[in-house]
Amino acid sequence: MPERPPAARSAASRRASDSSPSAKRKKRDHVELKVEHATPERGARGASTSATRASPGAPPFAPPGDWPEVLRLIKQMRAAGGAPVDTMGCEKISEDAAPDAKGRRFVTLVSAMLSSQTKDPITHAATARLVAFGCTPEKIAGTSVEQLDALITPVGFHQRKAGYLKAAAAICVERYDSDIPPSVETLTELPGVGPKMAYLVMNVGWGKASGICVDVHVHRIAERMGWVPPVAYSANGTPRKTRTPEDTRVCLESWLPEEEWVEINPLLVGHGQLTCTPRAPKCGECLVNALCPSAFAESKPDKERRARGSEK
Ligand code: SF4
Repeated sequence: MPERPPAARSAASRRASDSSPSAKRKKRDHVELKVEHATPERGARGASTSATRASPGAPPFAPPGDWPEVLRLIKQMRAAGGAPVDTMGCEKISEDAAPDAKGRRFVTLVSAMLSSQTKDPITHAATARLVAFGCTPEKIAGTSVEQLDALITPVGFHQRKAGYLKAAAAICVERYDSDIPPSVETLTELPGVGPKMAYLVMNVGWGKASGICVDVHVHRIAERMGWVPPVAYSANGTPRKTRTPEDTRVCLESWLPEEEWVEINPLLVGHGQLTCTPRAPKCGECLVNALCPSAFAESKPDKERRARGSEK
């Protein structure tokens, strides 16, 4: 187990020395409730210590006051690398895939389009096959859907994505001088490109922090760490049972400083691949387990069952 840093250690020892039920979990200090209004599209940039409304109907939300320390500890864990996203994310393959920035942007777009519903190694291998074949807008636009399909299989929904790739490449040639569209709005006009993908491509391809790319890992970990409220609200203020990745994006952008927007995706994706996994997260190895409200939550029933068994 990695050595726990002083802040985490002291929090854990405080918990151990106070045995009252209410003290079993560290009470998190939330920050001062001073409401700043954030638009749903673009958060209160740089706001990190005040409550914000992610949407007009939502009550104010303040992130846990310890979020900078949690983020620092996650960065510390992630400094060693070792996650699939560190070598096979769409940020990585494009570095060697084309001779100039324009060409790399297109490979980044292609890699992002292949990545949905697909594991990183499969996306990486399929992108590499396209690069070897010739991953330029002209070449992809001039290739049959059947051949593209054969090149990208076994990527998830490969048949449909082959059609999207060909159509998107043709648009890049015709409307953008063989470059990729330059904004979230124009990227999402491409077939098969949704907002999550567009934010990632803007961040990586254009180097512009246009928004936070919230995938399943970022969505799950933000919920587990209490970085989003437990209830999502529609624009008219109606609470919704199910929180979507888009709810999470809007909320995170309302308080996370903009300089963290690009890095937060690979940071949390790697944390989700290595430690905070969807099932059976490795909380015992996680440096933020003294601060995380969900730490060991998934193993509680087992503990309780064992305790009940020993009482009999
Ligand atoms: S303590 Fe557990 S649930 Fe919380 S971030 Fe770490 S691995 Fe995830």
